[in-house]
Amino acid sequence: MPPEIVTLPCLADNYAFLVHAPRGGETALVDAPEAAPVLKALEARGWQLDQIWLTHHHWDHVEATDEIRAATGARVFGAGADAHRLPPLDLALADGDSFAFAGHEVSVMDVSGHTVGHIAYHIADARAAFTGDSLMALGCGRVFEGTFAQMWESLSKLAALPPETRVFSGHEYTAANARFALSVEPDNAALAQRAAQTEAARARGRATVPSSLAQELATNPFLRAGQPGIKRALGMENRPDAEVFAEIRRQKDAF
Ligand code: ZN
Ligand code: FE
Repeated sequence: MPPEIVTLPCLADNYAFLVHAPRGGETALVDAPEAAPVLKALEARGWQLDQIWLTHHHWDHVEATDEIRAATGARVFGAGADAHRLPPLDLALADGDSFAFAGHEVSVMDVSGHTVGHIAYHIADARAAFTGDSLMALGCGRVFEGTFAQMWESLSKLAALPPETRVFSGHEYTAANARFALSVEPDNAALAQRAAQTEAARARGRATVPSSLAQELATNPFLRAGQPGIKRALGMENRPDAEVFAEIRRQKDAF
Protein backbone atom coordinates (compact mmCIF):
# COMPACT_ATOMS: atom_id res chain seq x y z
CA MET A 1 0.00 0.00 0.00
CA PRO A 2 1.49 3.38 -0.96
CA PRO A 3 2.11 5.89 1.83
CA GLU A 4 -0.28 8.79 2.20
CA ILE A 5 1.44 12.16 1.72
CA VAL A 6 -0.01 15.34 3.21
CA THR A 7 1.15 18.79 2.07
CA LEU A 8 1.34 21.25 4.99
CA PRO A 9 1.58 25.00 4.31
CA CYS A 10 3.97 26.61 6.83
CA LEU A 11 5.29 30.13 7.41
CA ALA A 12 4.59 32.48 4.48
CA ASP A 13 5.10 30.14 1.53
CA ASN A 14 6.92 27.00 2.74
CA TYR A 15 5.71 23.44 2.52
CA ALA A 16 6.41 20.55 4.88
CA PHE A 17 5.09 17.06 4.14
CA LEU A 18 3.82 14.21 6.27
CA VAL A 19 4.48 10.75 4.85
CA HIS A 20 2.28 8.16 6.53
CA ALA A 21 2.34 4.42 5.97
CA PRO A 22 -1.20 3.18 6.65
CA ARG A 23 -0.20 -0.43 7.37
CA GLY A 24 2.45 -0.04 10.06
CA GLY A 25 1.32 3.42 11.10
CA GLU A 26 4.78 4.98 10.75
CA THR A 27 4.94 8.68 9.93
CA ALA A 28 7.77 10.87 8.67
CA LEU A 29 7.96 14.63 8.27
CA VAL A 30 9.90 16.26 5.44
CA ASP A 31 11.41 19.55 6.67
CA ALA A 32 10.44 21.44 9.79
CA PRO A 33 9.65 25.06 9.00
CA GLU A 34 7.10 25.58 11.78
CA ALA A 35 5.86 23.41 14.66
CA ALA A 36 2.18 24.37 15.02
CA PRO A 37 0.84 23.22 11.60
CA VAL A 38 2.80 19.98 11.88
CA LEU A 39 1.69 19.10 15.42
CA LYS A 40 -1.88 20.07 14.60
CA ALA A 41 -1.94 17.86 11.49
CA LEU A 42 -0.50 14.91 13.45
CA GLU A 43 -3.05 15.33 16.22
CA ALA A 44 -5.97 15.71 13.82
CA ARG A 45 -5.08 12.38 12.20
CA GLY A 46 -3.95 10.60 15.35
CA TRP A 47 -0.51 9.95 13.86
CA GLN A 48 2.72 9.51 15.86
CA LEU A 49 5.77 11.08 14.26
CA ASP A 50 8.75 8.71 13.93
CA GLN A 51 11.22 10.46 11.64
CA ILE A 52 12.10 13.95 10.41
CA TRP A 53 13.90 14.17 7.03
CA LEU A 54 15.73 17.46 6.51
CA THR A 55 16.59 18.64 2.98
CA HIS A 56 18.99 21.50 3.73
CA HIS A 57 20.20 23.84 6.43
CA HIS A 58 18.21 27.02 5.65
CA TRP A 59 16.25 28.23 8.67
CA ASP A 60 12.89 28.04 6.89
CA HIS A 61 13.40 24.27 6.52
CA VAL A 62 14.86 23.39 9.94
CA GLU A 63 13.69 26.08 12.39
CA ALA A 64 11.13 23.91 14.23
CA THR A 65 13.15 20.67 14.24
CA ASP A 66 14.05 20.71 17.93
CA GLU A 67 10.56 21.72 19.02
CA ILE A 68 8.93 18.96 16.95
CA ARG A 69 11.53 16.43 18.10
CA ALA A 70 10.88 17.34 21.73
CA ALA A 71 7.11 17.09 21.27
CA THR A 72 7.14 13.77 19.39
CA GLY A 73 10.41 11.94 20.07
CA ALA A 74 11.02 11.65 16.33
CA ARG A 75 14.50 10.81 15.05
CA VAL A 76 16.12 13.43 12.83
CA PHE A 77 17.80 12.56 9.51
CA GLY A 78 19.88 14.88 7.35
CA ALA A 79 23.05 15.28 5.33
CA GLY A 80 26.14 14.23 7.28
CA ALA A 81 28.15 16.76 5.26
CA ASP A 82 26.01 19.50 6.79
CA ALA A 83 25.86 18.12 10.34
CA HIS A 84 27.78 21.16 11.64
CA ARG A 85 24.96 23.50 10.65
CA LEU A 86 21.89 21.28 10.96
CA PRO A 87 20.04 20.44 14.19
CA PRO A 88 21.62 17.40 15.90
CA LEU A 89 21.17 14.36 13.62
CA ASP A 90 20.22 10.86 14.69
CA LEU A 91 21.12 9.58 11.23
CA ALA A 92 23.72 11.23 8.99
CA LEU A 93 23.06 10.60 5.29
CA ALA A 94 25.13 10.84 2.11
CA ASP A 95 24.48 10.61 -1.62
CA GLY A 96 23.55 7.06 -2.60
CA ASP A 97 22.47 6.02 0.89
CA SER A 98 19.11 4.45 1.42
CA PHE A 99 17.10 3.64 4.51
CA ALA A 100 13.90 1.77 5.24
CA PHE A 101 10.69 3.55 6.10
CA ALA A 102 7.71 1.32 6.81
CA GLY A 103 8.85 -1.23 4.26
CA HIS A 104 9.62 1.41 1.62
CA GLU A 105 13.15 2.12 0.46
CA VAL A 106 14.02 5.82 0.70
CA SER A 107 16.99 6.81 -1.48
CA VAL A 108 19.14 9.83 -0.73
CA MET A 109 20.39 12.00 -3.58
CA ASP A 110 22.87 14.84 -3.25
CA VAL A 111 21.30 17.78 -5.10
CA SER A 112 23.74 20.54 -4.14
CA GLY A 113 23.61 23.95 -5.78
CA HIS A 114 21.11 26.01 -3.77
CA THR A 115 23.24 24.97 -0.82
CA VAL A 116 26.15 22.54 -0.73
CA GLY A 117 24.95 19.50 1.18
CA HIS A 118 21.34 19.80 0.00
CA ILE A 119 19.77 16.35 -0.31
CA ALA A 120 16.57 14.99 -1.85
CA TYR A 121 14.63 11.91 -0.73
CA HIS A 122 13.25 9.56 -3.37
CA ILE A 123 10.76 6.79 -2.62
CA ALA A 124 10.62 4.85 -5.87
CA ASP A 125 7.67 2.61 -5.00
CA ALA A 126 5.65 5.63 -3.89
CA ARG A 127 6.57 7.59 -7.04
CA ALA A 128 7.60 10.51 -4.82
CA ALA A 129 10.64 12.75 -4.58
CA PHE A 130 11.10 15.42 -1.90
CA THR A 131 13.31 18.02 -3.51
CA GLY A 132 13.34 20.95 -1.06
CA ASP A 133 14.79 24.02 -2.81
CA SER A 134 16.53 22.14 -5.65
CA LEU A 135 13.96 21.25 -8.33
CA MET A 136 10.80 23.26 -7.66
CA ALA A 137 7.44 23.55 -9.43
CA LEU A 138 8.27 25.42 -12.66
CA GLY A 139 11.55 26.53 -11.14
CA CYS A 140 14.61 25.74 -9.11
CA GLY A 141 16.23 27.23 -6.05
CA ARG A 142 18.56 30.17 -6.37
CA VAL A 143 22.21 29.08 -6.51
CA PHE A 144 23.55 30.43 -3.21
CA GLU A 145 26.43 28.15 -2.28
CA GLY A 146 27.19 25.78 -5.14
CA THR A 147 28.05 26.49 -8.75
CA PHE A 148 25.69 26.69 -11.70
CA ALA A 149 27.34 23.54 -13.06
CA GLN A 150 26.64 21.73 -9.79
CA MET A 151 22.99 22.80 -9.80
CA TRP A 152 22.64 21.67 -13.42
CA GLU A 153 24.07 18.29 -12.48
CA SER A 154 21.66 18.00 -9.55
CA LEU A 155 18.66 18.91 -11.70
CA SER A 156 19.80 16.44 -14.36
CA LYS A 157 19.86 13.63 -11.78
CA LEU A 158 16.32 14.48 -10.71
CA ALA A 159 15.22 14.76 -14.36
CA ALA A 160 16.34 11.16 -14.88
CA LEU A 161 13.86 9.78 -12.32
CA PRO A 162 10.74 8.14 -13.79
CA PRO A 163 8.51 10.82 -15.37
CA GLU A 164 5.54 9.75 -13.24
CA THR A 165 7.46 10.77 -10.09
CA ARG A 166 5.61 13.35 -8.01
CA VAL A 167 7.81 16.31 -7.11
CA PHE A 168 7.27 17.60 -3.57
CA SER A 169 9.22 20.87 -3.42
CA GLY A 170 9.63 23.25 -0.52
CA HIS A 171 7.77 26.42 -1.52
CA GLU A 172 4.65 27.79 -3.20
CA TYR A 173 6.48 29.88 -5.82
CA THR A 174 4.75 28.46 -8.86
CA ALA A 175 2.79 31.53 -10.02
CA ALA A 176 5.88 33.77 -10.04
CA ASN A 177 7.89 30.96 -11.63
CA ALA A 178 5.27 30.66 -14.37
CA ARG A 179 5.62 34.34 -15.29
CA PHE A 180 9.37 33.91 -15.69
CA ALA A 181 9.03 30.61 -17.56
CA LEU A 182 6.71 32.27 -20.09
CA SER A 183 9.36 34.93 -20.71
CA VAL A 184 11.79 32.15 -21.66
CA GLU A 185 9.34 30.08 -23.72
CA PRO A 186 6.38 32.22 -24.78
CA ASP A 187 5.32 29.67 -27.40
CA ASN A 188 5.27 26.58 -25.17
CA ALA A 189 1.60 25.55 -25.20
CA ALA A 190 1.94 23.13 -22.28
CA LEU A 191 3.53 25.91 -20.25
CA ALA A 192 0.78 28.41 -21.13
CA GLN A 193 -1.80 25.85 -20.02
CA ARG A 194 0.05 25.13 -16.78
CA ALA A 195 0.42 28.85 -16.06
CA ALA A 196 -3.35 29.28 -16.42
CA GLN A 197 -4.01 26.26 -14.18
CA THR A 198 -1.60 27.68 -11.61
CA GLU A 199 -3.39 31.05 -11.57
CA ALA A 200 -6.74 29.29 -11.13
CA ALA A 201 -5.44 27.05 -8.33
CA ARG A 202 -3.87 29.95 -6.45
CA ALA A 203 -7.03 32.06 -6.84
CA ARG A 204 -8.82 29.26 -4.94
CA GLY A 205 -6.01 29.06 -2.37
CA ARG A 206 -4.97 25.60 -3.54
CA ALA A 207 -1.40 24.26 -3.44
CA THR A 208 0.35 23.68 -6.78
CA VAL A 209 2.75 21.24 -5.08
CA PRO A 210 3.27 18.37 -5.76
CA SER A 211 3.74 18.51 -9.51
CA SER A 212 4.88 15.61 -11.65
CA LEU A 213 8.30 15.22 -13.19
CA ALA A 214 6.62 14.79 -16.60
CA GLN A 215 5.04 18.24 -16.15
CA GLU A 216 8.38 19.73 -15.14
CA LEU A 217 10.14 18.19 -18.13
CA ALA A 218 7.54 19.73 -20.44
CA THR A 219 7.35 23.19 -18.87
CA ASN A 220 10.16 23.99 -16.39
CA PRO A 221 12.72 26.19 -18.20
CA PHE A 222 15.50 25.06 -15.86
CA LEU A 223 15.09 21.44 -16.98
CA ARG A 224 14.77 22.51 -20.61
CA ALA A 225 18.16 24.18 -21.10
CA GLY A 226 18.98 21.51 -23.70
CA GLN A 227 15.98 22.32 -25.91
CA PRO A 228 17.06 23.66 -29.32
CA GLY A 229 14.30 26.31 -29.31
CA ILE A 230 15.47 27.75 -25.99
CA LYS A 231 19.11 27.73 -27.08
CA ARG A 232 18.17 29.50 -30.31
CA ALA A 233 16.12 32.15 -28.50
CA LEU A 234 19.09 32.87 -26.23
CA GLY A 235 21.58 32.92 -29.12
CA MET A 236 23.36 29.94 -27.50
CA GLU A 237 22.85 27.26 -30.19
CA ASN A 238 26.30 25.78 -29.80
CA ARG A 239 26.73 26.16 -26.07
CA PRO A 240 26.62 23.22 -23.63
CA ASP A 241 23.35 22.69 -21.75
CA ALA A 242 24.99 23.61 -18.42
CA GLU A 243 25.93 27.06 -19.74
CA VAL A 244 22.43 27.61 -21.07
CA PHE A 245 21.06 26.62 -17.67
CA ALA A 246 23.39 29.15 -16.02
CA GLU A 247 22.16 31.90 -18.35
CA ILE A 248 18.49 31.08 -17.59
CA ARG A 249 19.24 31.06 -13.83
CA ARG A 250 20.98 34.46 -14.10
CA GLN A 251 18.00 35.87 -16.00
CA LYS A 252 15.65 34.60 -13.30
CA ASP A 253 17.76 36.24 -10.59
CA ALA A 254 17.30 39.56 -12.40
CA PHE A 255 13.63 39.02 -13.40
ZN1 ZN B 1 16.53 27.17 0.99
FE1 FE C 1 13.50 27.57 1.37
